[in-house]
Amino acid sequence: MSITLALSKGRIFEETLPLLAAAGIEPTEDPERSRKLIIATNRPDVRLIIVRATDVPTYVQHGAADLGVAGKDVLMEHGGEGLYQPVDLNIARCRMMVAAPLGFDYEAAVRRGARLRVATKYVQTARLFFAAKGVHVDLIKLYGSMELAPLVGLADVIVDLVSTGGTLKANNLAAVEEIAPISSRLIVNQAALKLKHRQLQPIIDAFRRAAA
Ligand code: ATP
Ligand code: MG
Repeated sequence: MSITLALSKGRIFEETLPLLAAAGIEPTEDPERSRKLIIATNRPDVRLIIVRATDVPTYVQHGAADLGVAGKDVLMEHGGEGLYQPVDLNIARCRMMVAAPLGFDYEAAVRRGARLRVATKYVQTARLFFAAKGVHVDLIKLYGSMELAPLVGLADVIVDLVSTGGTLKANNLAAVEEIAPISSRLIVNQAALKLKHRQLQPIIDAFRRAAA
């Protein structure tokens, strides 16, 4: 039986390469150079597919890929249905934060029960987070460059990933509350884990050892 692993280009691919190597898997091509979406490996029974980061859980959930690597941010937004998440790979680490313009008193707005306009690509995560705090929000779905929204009056705050804080600082924004620490997880299709256990378990074990 053949094994398909879903990865996204960029930092997740780069940071997963050493883990793949530890499992004895080497891609035969670099997805940053090749336009191929299906990439062979040194193992005839293992191939990689290259998809958008947000699409990785979807491919694995439906069994089009047996395994994948996805950020916790993407998994929180997806919901994780049909997926095992056996290993925290500790790669692509950052934090999901609420951020606001330097002049905006977030604490005071929350305390007086103001209705907050929140721009984000993580609408599900933001909805759950603010609901748990009892804060009323209007969610504005964006697909990128969230930092711009408060600067032009589209929103009061944003929910976004922060690593160094450099982009926030360059735009006169600051993180005001942490929602969750983020890292990438190995995800596995639940049915595949039973059907292809003999092939999948050693890969999962190798990733776990290499990530520790
Ligand atoms: P694009 O940026 O091309 O629109 P994307 O945002 O889907 O695509 P990446 O920016 O490569 O893709 O992010 C992929 C994953 O890497 C995210 O889901 C997240 O888990 C993690 N990530 C994103 N930004 C950072 C960061 N600044 N530091 C560390 N990890 C990050
Ligand atoms: Mg990005």
